[in-house]
Amino acid sequence: MIQKIDKQAVQEALEMAYDRCKNETGGKNADYIPYLANVPSDLFGIAACLPDGDVVAVGDVKYRFGIESVSKVPTAILAMNQYSGEEVLQKIGADATGLPFNSIMAILLEKDHPSTPLVNAGAISACSMIRPTGDSQGKWQAIVEFIADLAGSPVEVIDELYKSETATNFNNKSIAWLLKNYNRIYDDPDLALDIYTRQCSIGVTAVQLAVMAATIANGGVNPITCKPVFKPELAPKITSMMATVGFYEHTGDWLFQTGLPAKTGVGGGIMGVVPGVMGVAAFAPPLDEAGNSVKAQKALAYISLHLNMGVFGTTRCVMEEKEPARA
Ligand code: GLN
Repeated sequence: MIQKIDKQAVQEALEMAYDRCKNETGGKNADYIPYLANVPSDLFGIAACLPDGDVVAVGDVKYRFGIESVSKVPTAILAMNQYSGEEVLQKIGADATGLPFNSIMAILLEKDHPSTPLVNAGAISACSMIRPTGDSQGKWQAIVEFIADLAGSPVEVIDELYKSETATNFNNKSIAWLLKNYNRIYDDPDLALDIYTRQCSIGVTAVQLAVMAATIANGGVNPITCKPVFKPELAPKITSMMATVGFYEHTGDWLFQTGLPAKTGVGGGIMGVVPGVMGVAAFAPPLDEAGNSVKAQKALAYISLHLNMGVFGTTRCVMEEKEPARA
C-alpha cells in the first residue's frame, strides 16, 4: 500500500513537529569539546529536501553548527566509492557495537575489525583509507569536496571548533593508536586522526544536512545540482549502516520507534534518509546521555510517524510526483 504525500504535507509536518518540540528542555550541550558547550542551547531547526530539490524548513535552519559524527556518513560513502562496499566491510565492518561512540572497549572486544565506520574507531579507520593516502592536504580536499557535493553547496571548518577538539581529543588519540596496533589504520595514525577531527569540525546548516540526506535517498544524485555524487548501489549500503548504529547504544530503540535510518552528531544535528522519498534533518544542541540531540530526535520521530516514513512498514509514503505507474 502506498501513501502519497506532497510538499504541503511535509511542510505541515515540519511545522507541527517544531511547535510540539520547541519547548522541550531535556538534555544538555556536549561539554567534553569546550566549543560545543557554548553554542546557544535554544537553537532549533528542521529541514527536509524532496526529490525535485524543493527544500522545506522551519526554525534556525541557517545556523552553522558542528557536523560532528554526521560526517562519518559521507566519509564512509567516500571510502566505499573509492574502494568498494565489500572492501570497507572487510577492512572496517558494518556491525553495531552496542556501546558508546568513543568506546575503547568495543575495539578490544572486536580486535579483528573496528566494527563500523559510523563510530569513532571505524571513522578514524575510514579516514585512514581515503585516497590519496599519505597526503593530508589531498585527503582533506577529497573529503571536503565530497561533503560539498552531497550538500550541493560549499562547506568549511569552524576553526574555533577544530582547535577546541584538537586540544581535547585524548580518547580519540588512544583509539587511533590502538587501531594501529591491530593493523586497522591504513595510513599514518596521527594524520588519520587529524583528518577525522577536521571533518567533525565542519560547519553545516540543517538545510545542508537535509540535502545531504536527500542525495543518499536519491541513490547518490544530488536533487538540487543533479550531479551524480556516488555510485547508486552504495545508497542502500550506507542507509543500512545508519539504521544499524546511527544512535549508538540507543539505535534499536530509535529504529523500533520510528523506522527511520538516521545519524546523529554531538553538535546537535541528526540527518534521516527515507530511501526514494526524501532527506530530513533537525538540529538542537542539548543531547541525551548517548550523545543524541533530544529535541531533534523528538522532532524527527514525530515527522517519521506522522508521514508514515518508517522503512519497515507495509504502508510506505511516496512523494506525490513519484507515484509509480500502475499496471
Ligand atoms: N568529534 C566527536 C568525537 O570524536 C564526534 C562524536 C559524535 O558526534 N558522536 O568525539
